[in-house]
Amino acid sequence: MRSLGGKRDARPPLVSPTLWLLGLSLLPILSSQGLSQAVAERRLENGLWQLESQHLTLVTDIVPDAEIRAMPTLFEHALLAWTQFLPPPGEITDKVQVTAYLMADRQRFVELNLLDPDDNFFRHGYQFENRIFLSEQPSAYYRRHLFLHEGTHWFLWRFFSGNGPPWFSEGLCEWLGTHRWNGQDLTLGIMPLTADEVPYWGRLRMIRDDLKQHQAPDLTEIMRYTTTAHRVDNPYAWSWAAVYFFANHPRYRGNFQRLIQAPLEDSPATTQRFKEQLVDDWPVVFREWKLFIDELDYGYAAAAFTDLGSSPSPPQRPVKLDIQADRGWQSTGILCLPQQKIAIQASGEVSVRAARPAEREPEWLSQPQGLTLEYYRQHPLGSLVATVVPWPGQPGKPIKMHDSWERWCVGQENHWTSTDGGWLLLRVNEAPGGLHDNAGSYQVIIEPR
Ligand SMILES: [Zn+2]
Repeated sequence: MRSLGGKRDARPPLVSPTLWLLGLSLLPILSSQGLSQAVAERRLENGLWQLESQHLTLVTDIVPDAEIRAMPTLFEHALLAWTQFLPPPGEITDKVQVTAYLMADRQRFVELNLLDPDDNFFRHGYQFENRIFLSEQPSAYYRRHLFLHEGTHWFLWRFFSGNGPPWFSEGLCEWLGTHRWNGQDLTLGIMPLTADEVPYWGRLRMIRDDLKQHQAPDLTEIMRYTTTAHRVDNPYAWSWAAVYFFANHPRYRGNFQRLIQAPLEDSPATTQRFKEQLVDDWPVVFREWKLFIDELDYGYAAAAFTDLGSSPSPPQRPVKLDIQADRGWQSTGILCLPQQKIAIQASGEVSVRAARPAEREPEWLSQPQGLTLEYYRQHPLGSLVATVVPWPGQPGKPIKMHDSWERWCVGQENHWTSTDGGWLLLRVNEAPGGLHDNAGSYQVIIEPR
């Protein structure tokens, strides 16, 4: 989270010069990216530790270990990464300075006049101007995550004069907080491959829990979050998902990048401006979002995004198309009418798994009926599967986030009658995390009857 606004009185200086104690050590660190950072470490008279790099001063009551000693270096890497994700309108000079407080015992920081009692309301992290406050976390990953989250708030405040509306602000900070770090290289905005990679992150679990309990917000509800929504955890997960979606979707990422411009006002008007750019596409966006959430999981690859393109229309004649093996749902362009009869024929061969020489595993090739070696959502891996997406103006229930749209196996040939009608989509059946090594396409002929 970040300051909700309002100026406070200037704080006392972080550490008075008389508090410097001895024991200065300089640890030069050179990253693989050529970032040279020296981290200076001191024990202060008040018992706290202080670590400094070019742009960060970290003050903590935790005895520094290798992870904590690496935090200033992490910050310098993050600074570079933020400038790439969020090109700042100004330069980053040595005058850019941030102080972060990592606190096991928050009360101690209050007593030392480092944390204002009025600010001691936050749950985990808090940014106010050039200061970041972090409560100690149960995993090194999640400590860094919180640091990068609050750091992103700071970067937006410092270079974009604001953070934008809550869904955008918290979503962006969550997105750029989710990271991979090996002590030398930092990657922001990742989709974790497994839960073990991001201990205590839990965003996907929160989304699944809300879906299971029929409490999942739709995209419009997320974009209407107020400044109080993020007092509980799950809106962080949904805001993250919304930003991940817009920042990575092949058709909307340009709109999303254009949204990141100073001043980033915390106002519904900012969201409204963004939505107005997509207004003609909104029914499509809404359905692509639903399909995204339905499949969102560890390892979700960019290729899995559904890009439905333009709105569908009723079929007049047979349609021939290729369904790519390395993508998620693909539009047939066909709007089935209620009680419409459709025949689908498919042929060809695709690769659903590249050869793995180290494991002596050959390439897995599949035809439209699929491989019964593995199943995904009850259908064979590599099978041609179909779904019908409700479309405005057609009968059927309103779209609920927790309803899964039926999918069925088309195989090599399928005759089928659409009950309510809707937008016909096809894909090669595989979990979204497995699409990256696929290749080839099935040739499909769809005939209205
Ligand atoms: Zn935040």
